[in-house]
Amino acid sequence: MLNIDIHLDLSMNAMEWNRDLRLPVNVINKREAGKTDLPGRANSMVSFPELKRGDTAIVVATQIARFVEEGSAIPGWHSPEQAWAQTQGQLAWYKMMEEEGEMFQVKNLDDLNGHLNHWQKDQAEKKPIGYILSLEGADSILTPEYLERAWAYGLRAIGPAHYGPGRYANGTNSTGKMKANGIALLRKMEELNIILDTTHLCDDAFWQALENFDGHVWASHNNCRSIVHHNRQYSDEQIKALISRGAIIGAAMDAWMIVPDWEKNVSDPFKMKCGIEALLNHIDHICQLAGNTDHICIGSDLDGGFGKEQSLFDMETIADLSKFPEMMFKRGYSEDSIKAFMHGNVLRFLGNAWQ
Ligand SMILES: [Zn+2]
Repeated sequence: MLNIDIHLDLSMNAMEWNRDLRLPVNVINKREAGKTDLPGRANSMVSFPELKRGDTAIVVATQIARFVEEGSAIPGWHSPEQAWAQTQGQLAWYKMMEEEGEMFQVKNLDDLNGHLNHWQKDQAEKKPIGYILSLEGADSILTPEYLERAWAYGLRAIGPAHYGPGRYANGTNSTGKMKANGIALLRKMEELNIILDTTHLCDDAFWQALENFDGHVWASHNNCRSIVHHNRQYSDEQIKALISRGAIIGAAMDAWMIVPDWEKNVSDPFKMKCGIEALLNHIDHICQLAGNTDHICIGSDLDGGFGKEQSLFDMETIADLSKFPEMMFKRGYSEDSIKAFMHGNVLRFLGNAWQ
């Protein structure tokens, strides 16, 4: 079934993990055998052939580059200018893939409808993957005025924060409200109709952002705090607030966010019962809070600095998104609700956001 994944870090994989995503994952993984420089080596689950095989017509694909102050325990660039340049290198890769006919940038509703028409008609090997450009963590945006340049090259969604303290907003494992520049960033996003991605905002910044932003909001890759307690996950109050704003919430496929007590580099997905069923518990919970199935979607993050060692035991690659419809049907989801999860909710959201 046609599906849309609203969070993948494709350019980071290409430009930092040095993965040629045009290749089959087994070829990528073979070349990485024995490498230990980065997490998830030789365990890749995402490449263009796999996306096509699983009927993933559109992805929301990130640029990502963090800035860190001296003494920071987390990795990042030492100046915002370096971070900006990093994101421009990532953009150059997306543009190269467009030139090669591997990707197609979706920037508005005409692009979206045209792409979906082609997707349904073309033979698999000829299809470019549709992508909507987003930015995970806004540190690389030198000043809010830079968003005009970013809008012009197609940036359509921004998560102001990532891990730790950020230049505009504090993120996961951090606390504290945004300062004036964070509010100015939100104003500029609103003016340009850039989607606010609340994922990774710390609780303080989350609530403040919702209060200070009147535009369209989604959470690209987030699960439920009531099932796995961690500040990276959303409390029921946060999920309800997102629902009241018409948001969609992408189901994240990182094991530690799905089952409690996951230990990185130790736990095993199968032994921990971390499979599609476990993720469906999070999806069910959001539907229960909403009283409908209008706010769920896919935000797999399956290439987000981890791989098969830390994901769902019953998915070999991202092509196994195609397993979801049957498992949801068994759990009592109607055909319409399954379509809503796989693609319908994202298309409705974009139809509203971009009209
Ligand atoms: Zn993330």
